[in-house]
Amino acid sequence: FERLPKIDLPAYTETKIEDIFDIHEKLATSWKSGKTRPLEYRKEQMAALYNGIIEDAPLIVEALARDFKSVFEAALEVQLVLHELKDFLENFEAWLAPVSVARPISIIMDSAKIVYEPFGVILGISPWNFPFSLAMIPAIGAIASGNCFVFKPSEMSPNTSAIISLLVSKYLDPDCFSVINGDKEVTTKALELKWDFISYTGSSSVGRVVLAAAAKHLTPTLLELGGKSPAYIDDETCDLRIAARRIVWAKFFNAGQICITVDYIICRPSVREKLEKILQEEIIGFYTNETEDNPDWPLIVNERHAQRIVSNIPTENSPAGSGRVVYGGKYDVSKRYIGPTIVTEVDPHNAPLMQSEIFGPILPIVTMENEDEAIEYITSKDKPLAFYVFSDNSKLIEKMTTQISSGGVCINDTLMHHNLNTLPFGGVGESGMGSCHGRHSIEQFSHKKSIYQANNYRQMENVMKVRYPGSKLHEALP
Ligand code: NAD
Repeated sequence: FERLPKIDLPAYTETKIEDIFDIHEKLATSWKSGKTRPLEYRKEQMAALYNGIIEDAPLIVEALARDFKSVFEAALEVQLVLHELKDFLENFEAWLAPVSVARPISIIMDSAKIVYEPFGVILGISPWNFPFSLAMIPAIGAIASGNCFVFKPSEMSPNTSAIISLLVSKYLDPDCFSVINGDKEVTTKALELKWDFISYTGSSSVGRVVLAAAAKHLTPTLLELGGKSPAYIDDETCDLRIAARRIVWAKFFNAGQICITVDYIICRPSVREKLEKILQEEIIGFYTNETEDNPDWPLIVNERHAQRIVSNIPTENSPAGSGRVVYGGKYDVSKRYIGPTIVTEVDPHNAPLMQSEIFGPILPIVTMENEDEAIEYITSKDKPLAFYVFSDNSKLIEKMTTQISSGGVCINDTLMHHNLNTLPFGGVGESGMGSCHGRHSIEQFSHKKSIYQANNYRQMENVMKVRYPGSKLHEALP
């Protein structure tokens, strides 16, 4: 597990602004030609990508590690993409099959079905935190659905973005698939064009910018955004040790740089100290007490983000309610290192840590007397992307999961609702709109076209006449 492996990587090159129009134009022409329509073509593209990722897996892992990941987590990210591709290769034809729908007896001779029609040319803007999988997973759904696709990976993970460019040029059809590399300026320019669909994964603030740009062309948009995802611990019934371990897994995976990480814990005041102790034991069990030179411990993506995160760690001079560090608190911004940190006695209303998504390895604990107080607090905030509850009390679980609206829910576990791709993954309200993963990506990246066909219409015309003006049908109505 080396942090910085030694293989040479391709260089990251920003796309020239003047080339963006040509990329769009080329793909729009290919789309019109119908090249992406045959299922066999889509299958070939996905198979080539699957084999290419296996072939170049060492390069991909190295690029991810060079950007900021631990090698272990980088390898998992590649696995996630391969798993998604394999599932699509095995199932996408069945998922795309037209769906016949029910008809009343009066028109039973006719047929009615839903067909999945590709949108056209899709722009896929993705973030840096899972820079490979979050670029690839929407693309897989888009390819399987018969679209052309332009990747716009994040400039903040340049090594992975360069690898995505390499993979796309090596393994996918250049007439139909392309990459635009660049920052805000480049993306703004790309967003001026009329795409047939935009897939965006990233922060809620930029999500608003993307949606406003899409509105100009009435372009349908998938927004996979972020937010503060809480975990509620019902210590009276749950297994506290397992709850703590699973929260530590979710919180410190990728050093907390996950959209569905546990942003903060809510527990009762009476269990807080015990929970703090168990959480510490679990952190040490996973990462040892020494994370600074531990290659299993990921870095923060860049110094700016490291500085943003550490500015929320309370110090002696912080205002009352900011919380108190009970574990960790070590960092070196110049090395992009922040160790796992637990902050307790956090005021849920006023602490800086509770004002926005932390997106780093700091775990605040806030205390509330019961689930009602927690429901009131959580529902007074933006709808979270994930809600976690640890409890064996089915009434409490039912109450919390129905009263709290969230993108997804995980009961007595963390992250698993994301990892199971038979479940749709997406947000609600501030945490996003639309969803993808597995067959849900087909639903997202296709227009569901209604097709009604009148059969035997010559013979049926005498019966159908009743609907025309002058039929006196209304006289027969009660
Ligand atoms: P970001 O919004 O800063 O950037 C995402 C993408 O948008 C990048 O490709 C970037 O180049 C582009 N971009 C940035 N500013 C832009 C602008 N003004 N106009 C147009 N494009 C712009 O997000 P990030 O920092 O890369 O990612 C972290 C955020 O993403 C967190 O909030 C996290 O919760 C969220 N996220 C959500 C999911 C999900 O599936 N719901 C997954 C991962 C991350």
